[in-house]
Amino acid sequence: MSEEDEAKMAKKVYVVEDNEKNMSLFTAILNTIKDIEIITDTRGDTGLELIKKGNPDLIILDIQLPGINGIEICKELRKIDRFSKIPIIAVTAFSMKGDQEAIMAAGFTQYISKPIRVMQFKETIMKYLT
Ligand code: MN
Repeated sequence: MSEEDEAKMAKKVYVVEDNEKNMSLFTAILNTIKDIEIITDTRGDTGLELIKKGNPDLIILDIQLPGINGIEICKELRKIDRFSKIPIIAVTAFSMKGDQEAIMAAGFTQYISKPIRVMQFKETIMKYLT
Protein backbone atom coordinates (compact mmCIF):
# COMPACT_ATOMS: atom_id res chain seq x y z
CA MET A 1 0.00 0.00 0.00
CA SER A 2 1.31 3.46 -0.88
CA GLU A 3 1.89 6.13 1.74
CA GLU A 4 -0.90 8.09 0.13
CA ASP A 5 -3.38 5.24 0.63
CA GLU A 6 -2.25 4.83 4.23
CA ALA A 7 -2.77 8.55 4.83
CA LYS A 8 -6.30 8.25 3.46
CA MET A 9 -7.03 5.35 5.79
CA ALA A 10 -5.63 7.02 8.90
CA LYS A 11 -8.26 8.13 11.37
CA LYS A 12 -7.90 11.78 12.29
CA VAL A 13 -8.05 12.50 15.99
CA TYR A 14 -8.09 16.14 17.12
CA VAL A 15 -6.95 16.92 20.65
CA VAL A 16 -7.34 20.32 22.33
CA GLU A 17 -5.60 20.45 25.73
CA ASP A 18 -3.57 23.26 27.31
CA ASN A 19 -1.76 21.23 29.95
CA GLU A 20 1.55 20.02 28.54
CA LYS A 21 1.76 16.88 30.69
CA ASN A 22 -1.78 15.81 29.84
CA MET A 23 -1.18 16.46 26.14
CA SER A 24 1.98 14.32 26.23
CA LEU A 25 0.10 11.52 27.94
CA PHE A 26 -2.84 11.65 25.52
CA THR A 27 -0.63 11.67 22.43
CA ALA A 28 1.55 8.88 23.86
CA ILE A 29 -1.54 6.70 24.31
CA LEU A 30 -2.97 7.66 20.91
CA ASN A 31 0.36 6.84 19.25
CA THR A 32 -0.02 3.22 20.38
CA ILE A 33 -3.09 2.94 18.10
CA LYS A 34 -2.48 1.95 14.47
CA ASP A 35 -3.48 4.10 11.48
CA ILE A 36 -4.07 7.25 13.43
CA GLU A 37 -3.22 10.86 12.70
CA ILE A 38 -3.11 13.18 15.72
CA ILE A 39 -3.75 16.89 15.31
CA THR A 40 -3.30 19.04 18.41
CA ASP A 41 -3.92 22.55 19.68
CA THR A 42 -3.40 24.11 23.11
CA ARG A 43 -6.03 26.88 22.88
CA GLY A 44 -9.81 26.76 22.63
CA ASP A 45 -10.21 29.46 19.99
CA THR A 46 -7.49 28.27 17.62
CA GLY A 47 -8.43 24.66 18.33
CA LEU A 48 -12.01 25.29 17.22
CA GLU A 49 -10.83 26.92 13.98
CA LEU A 50 -8.45 24.03 13.32
CA ILE A 51 -11.23 21.48 13.81
CA LYS A 52 -13.64 23.42 11.59
CA LYS A 53 -11.07 23.40 8.76
CA GLY A 54 -10.39 19.69 9.22
CA ASN A 55 -12.12 16.37 8.75
CA PRO A 56 -11.99 14.70 12.19
CA ASP A 57 -13.04 11.14 12.99
CA LEU A 58 -12.84 11.86 16.72
CA ILE A 59 -12.37 14.97 18.86
CA ILE A 60 -10.94 15.04 22.38
CA LEU A 61 -11.47 18.26 24.33
CA ASP A 62 -10.24 19.56 27.65
CA ILE A 63 -12.86 21.78 29.30
CA GLN A 64 -10.79 24.57 30.84
CA LEU A 65 -8.87 26.14 27.95
CA PRO A 66 -7.53 29.59 27.08
CA GLY A 67 -9.61 31.47 24.51
CA ILE A 68 -12.88 29.58 24.70
CA ASN A 69 -13.66 26.54 26.81
CA GLY A 70 -14.40 22.99 25.72
CA ILE A 71 -18.12 23.32 26.39
CA GLU A 72 -18.38 26.29 24.01
CA ILE A 73 -16.28 24.47 21.38
CA CYS A 74 -18.60 21.47 21.54
CA LYS A 75 -21.73 23.63 21.31
CA GLU A 76 -20.29 25.48 18.29
CA LEU A 77 -19.39 22.24 16.51
CA ARG A 78 -22.78 20.65 17.15
CA LYS A 79 -24.44 23.58 15.33
CA ILE A 80 -22.58 22.58 12.16
CA ASP A 81 -24.18 19.74 10.18
CA ARG A 82 -21.03 17.79 9.37
CA PHE A 83 -19.96 17.85 13.04
CA SER A 84 -23.32 16.84 14.44
CA LYS A 85 -22.47 13.12 14.61
CA ILE A 86 -18.69 13.16 15.17
CA PRO A 87 -17.75 11.63 18.55
CA ILE A 88 -16.55 14.38 20.91
CA ILE A 89 -15.04 13.28 24.20
CA ALA A 90 -14.56 15.61 27.17
CA VAL A 91 -11.51 14.97 29.32
CA THR A 92 -11.70 17.08 32.42
CA ALA A 93 -11.00 17.40 36.11
CA PHE A 94 -14.50 18.79 36.69
CA SER A 95 -16.16 16.22 38.87
CA MET A 96 -19.21 17.90 40.38
CA LYS A 97 -22.53 16.40 39.27
CA GLY A 98 -23.74 19.72 37.83
CA ASP A 99 -20.58 20.09 35.77
CA GLN A 100 -21.02 16.65 34.25
CA GLU A 101 -24.58 17.54 33.32
CA ALA A 102 -23.42 20.77 31.67
CA ILE A 103 -20.83 18.80 29.71
CA MET A 104 -23.33 16.24 28.45
CA ALA A 105 -25.91 18.97 27.72
CA ALA A 106 -23.31 20.68 25.48
CA GLY A 107 -23.46 17.67 23.16
CA PHE A 108 -20.42 15.66 24.19
CA THR A 109 -20.57 11.96 23.34
CA GLN A 110 -18.74 10.87 26.46
CA TYR A 111 -16.97 12.21 29.51
CA ILE A 112 -13.64 10.96 30.90
CA SER A 113 -12.43 12.16 34.32
CA LYS A 114 -8.87 13.23 35.02
CA PRO A 115 -6.62 11.76 36.17
CA ILE A 116 -7.26 9.37 33.31
CA ARG A 117 -6.66 5.63 33.49
CA VAL A 118 -4.55 4.62 30.53
CA MET A 119 -6.39 1.45 29.51
CA GLN A 120 -9.82 3.00 29.98
CA PHE A 121 -8.78 6.02 27.91
CA LYS A 122 -7.42 3.82 25.12
CA GLU A 123 -10.46 1.53 25.11
CA THR A 124 -12.78 4.54 24.89
CA ILE A 125 -10.84 5.95 21.94
CA MET A 126 -10.81 2.56 20.17
CA LYS A 127 -14.55 2.21 20.66
CA TYR A 128 -15.19 5.38 18.65
CA LEU A 129 -12.60 4.69 15.96
CA THR A 130 -13.89 1.28 14.88
MN1 MN B 1 -7.07 22.90 30.79
